[in-house]
Amino acid sequence: VWDVPLPNDYASQSCSVARALEIVGERWTMLIIRDAFYGVRRFGDFVIHLDIPRAVLSGRLKSLVDEGVLAREPGPGGHDEYALTDKGQRLWPVLRELMAWGDRYYAPRGPRRVLTHSADGGRVDAEGRCGTCGELVPVPDTVSEPGPGFDLEERRDDPITAAIGHPRRLLDPLRV
Ligand SMILES: [Zn+2]
Repeated sequence: VWDVPLPNDYASQSCSVARALEIVGERWTMLIIRDAFYGVRRFGDFVIHLDIPRAVLSGRLKSLVDEGVLAREPGPGGHDEYALTDKGQRLWPVLRELMAWGDRYYAPRGPRRVLTHSADGGRVDAEGRCGTCGELVPVPDTVSEPGPGFDLEERRDDPITAAIGHPRRLLDPLRV
């Protein structure tokens, strides 16, 4: 029932949460955005990492570009790439809090990924603050590294999973 459209007047008569969910409320969309923060930029890399049907990915990317969440731009390899815009990067706190919530309630063996501050290695908490220096850590200074739950997931040997199995700065373009 996930894709059953809401009534047409739903967004217009509702609050900003409803309007935001019109853009990012679909499950694949948030996973695409998560991967974009990890540095995934190429169509084929999203396909490999998310196991998403190509037609679905195509549609989601197009709507995210239309909404100005992602920008489509030429990549160094000649293929177009998708990068988060400023508007898209403003979704980071939402994603970070969603991760923290999932870690708290649905990660009994520990988080699959932890966030640290590139300047001092301090752990970034759910509010985005570094436990070592106390700063609110900007997105590009945030490092995503494998957590205790990482290798307990099902074994996947695609190159994207392998790359993000090492500490990486968010938004750093991932080209495997
Ligand atoms: Zn710090």
